[in-house]
Amino acid sequence: RWEAVDAYSISHGHPSTRPNARVLQDTISASDTAGLPRHALSASQAKFLSLHCRTTNVTHALEIGTLGGYSAIWMASQNPQLHVTTIEYDEHHYKTAQKNIELSGLADHIEVINGAALDVLGRISEEVHSGRRPSFGFTFIDADKVNNWNYFLMAKDISKPNSVICVDNIVRDGHLVSFGDNDSYLRGCREVVEKAGKEPGVDSVVLQTVGEKGYDGWLWAVIS
Ligand code: SAM
Repeated sequence: RWEAVDAYSISHGHPSTRPNARVLQDTISASDTAGLPRHALSASQAKFLSLHCRTTNVTHALEIGTLGGYSAIWMASQNPQLHVTTIEYDEHHYKTAQKNIELSGLADHIEVINGAALDVLGRISEEVHSGRRPSFGFTFIDADKVNNWNYFLMAKDISKPNSVICVDNIVRDGHLVSFGDNDSYLRGCREVVEKAGKEPGVDSVVLQTVGEKGYDGWLWAVIS
């Protein structure tokens, strides 16, 4: 019933007659046509991030892992005050996202940067520290899990006080705590949970989720 409840709640809370609902559906269809994996957030999860950005008046959000641009388009389409910077290393995903963002009419609000996130974050960090780019009020980490902790530390360094860093796909059907199951994906998830818990200036929680994306969850960390 998890999928059915997601479908029911999003259809009532975000009916298809709403402005921008069509743009979001078109993004999913175009990403499917381009052969992208179905790894985007669910509508409910993406809406939650959008509402968070609105209620905390975020003006600059950072995303690591664009895919076809679905989560970035959700955040920008619901928040006229928001500028999203999103990083994608796969050329085909990057080009698909660019096209989806152009078609959404949000090209002025979403900047997609093509490159490996560690390199791109290094450049963004220099720009933030030299005052050429504002720091971020929200970061969504949704890329290669093995680098979760590296991304977290780099994002923390360019985050505003009282901002949030969210790291997706932490729980993975509960395998987060299956200690026999020691692949690099899970090590990356455990590393960020355990190190964020000890990091000065960070207060975090793992929030387990169920829905059309199955049983998973994210790390939600407040940077003071
Ligand atoms: N946030 C997207 C959404 O909800 O619509 C989904 C992102 S998908 C789960 C992960 C993306 O991260 C993929 O497109 C993948 O190519 C990208 N990625 C993986 N490793 C990366 C890296 N080192 N640097 C930048 N992007 C990376």
